[in-house]
Amino acid sequence: MQHDNNKETPTAVDESRRKDDEKFMRLALAEAEAALEAGEIPIGAVIVCRGRVISRGHNLTETLCDVTAHAEMQAITSAANTLGGKYITDCTLYVTVEPCVMCAGAIGWAQIRRVVYGAADDKRGYHRYAPHALHPKATVTAGVLEDECRALMQDFFKGKRK
Ligand code: ZN
Repeated sequence: MQHDNNKETPTAVDESRRKDDEKFMRLALAEAEAALEAGEIPIGAVIVCRGRVISRGHNLTETLCDVTAHAEMQAITSAANTLGGKYITDCTLYVTVEPCVMCAGAIGWAQIRRVVYGAADDKRGYHRYAPHALHPKATVTAGVLEDECRALMQDFFKGKRK
C-alpha cells in the first residue's frame, strides 16, 4: 500500500470523522431525552456499524425495575439481535455519558472496537475503576458534544433535588 504524503488527507478524514461523531451523538442525545421524558436518568446510546445505526437504547432502570438496564446494555443486546451474532466487533458505540464498570465490561465482552462518549463520569465511570475493561484493541473518543450531554444530566438531578 502506498503512503500518501499529502498532509490535507488526514485532516479531511479527521474532520469527516468528527462530523460523523457529532451526528451520531445527536441521536444518542435524542435517546437520552426520551429517557428524561420517561422519568429515567437521561443517558442514551446508539451503535453504528459501517455508517449505519443498528441499534438505539436509553436508560430503563426505573421502567424495568432493573439496575442493569443501562442505555449501553439495551443497545448492545439489540445490536446483537440485529446482526445475529453476539460479537459486534466492527461497531462504534456512542453514549452520552462515560460507561460505568458494568457497561465497560459488556462492551469488552461484545468486542466493540470503538467507543465515543460525551460527558465524563468521575464518580461511576469505568476509567477510574476498570480502565482495562474494554477490548484491548478498542479506541475511545471522549468529550463529543460534552456540554449538551452533561447539561441533560445536571438538569435531571437539579429537578430531583427540588
Ligand atoms: Zn452502565
